Amino acid sequence: MLAARIHSPGGVDNLKLDQIEEPEVSDGEILVKIKLTGFNPLEYNLINGNVVYSVKPFPHIPGSEVLGEVLNDGINVRKGDRVIVFNRIFDGNCDLCLSGRENLCYNGGLWGVETNGGLTEKITIDEKNLVKIPDSIPDELAVSMPIGALTAYHALKKANASAGKTILIYGASGNTGIFAAQISRIMGLRVYGVSRKSWVKDYGVLKTFLMDQIPESMTFDIVVNSLGSNFWESSISHVKQGGSLVSFGVLTGKEAKINIATLYTREIQIIGSTGGTRSDLIELIKIMETNQFRVPVAKKFKLDQIKEAISCYETTRDGRILIEI
Ligand SMILES: [Zn+2]
Repeated sequence: MLAARIHSPGGVDNLKLDQIEEPEVSDGEILVKIKLTGFNPLEYNLINGNVVYSVKPFPHIPGSEVLGEVLNDGINVRKGDRVIVFNRIFDGNCDLCLSGRENLCYNGGLWGVETNGGLTEKITIDEKNLVKIPDSIPDELAVSMPIGALTAYHALKKANASAGKTILIYGASGNTGIFAAQISRIMGLRVYGVSRKSWVKDYGVLKTFLMDQIPESMTFDIVVNSLGSNFWESSISHVKQGGSLVSFGVLTGKEAKINIATLYTREIQIIGSTGGTRSDLIELIKIMETNQFRVPVAKKFKLDQIKEAISCYETTRDGRILIEI
């Protein structure tokens, strides 16, 4: 079967389309035929050797966001089920897993980064990582749930998002941004976005600002910064007294300075958030079943067009790049 694999030392030039053996199914594992794989900053950075995690094995199949069909019966999933992969590896036995925070498992990691992922035709995976998707959720939305939607939902929960609050989302047109906007609107928040794209208003954003044109006096209960260093100072300055800044990405850099006096005199909370839990994912499916969600898709590519997909990703900022397997 066909797989897109990064060969050492990485980089797009070392991404090759290889014919590999179909995976063998061990006890407790499920064989899944991949239908769609989402292409995120995670995959782009991984291919280019810029991730904060250790990548293994090599040659490596990236792809941490997949939708597929189950090919063999398990305990809770059956042949023919439409599934997405909960992309955290976790042992299920540590105190964090047992308290429902498997995204923080001591023995955990990211599926598709610290294991092979979904830019291939078939995968085998532990049944506990599969989540069934109802037919009412279309493919493009389903494949965007494990990273885009789940990351946004978990971050909003951590920031205690609730009706009547205001939220400012940096990068509102990005994969997490458009879901943060839609989920916030459903939760009853007033949503503002920092984006050059006026179309984000179609996703629940009341008003957009250009980065350097957010009125100084405007502050928000929650500020979402998934973009890292370059937006840190601005994002902190727009948190209301008693409000919070939630962070889950480092696209423009990992380092930031902080004015401690501002932090405590204004009682600002800085919240780190990473991915989400299986329980979040189940809640999110219910929210998506009963509310109209949309996801902008810039273009779909076939697996053997992966390099064209990467070139398109580098220039496109108007929607998702998806890979049809
Ligand atoms: Zn654990």
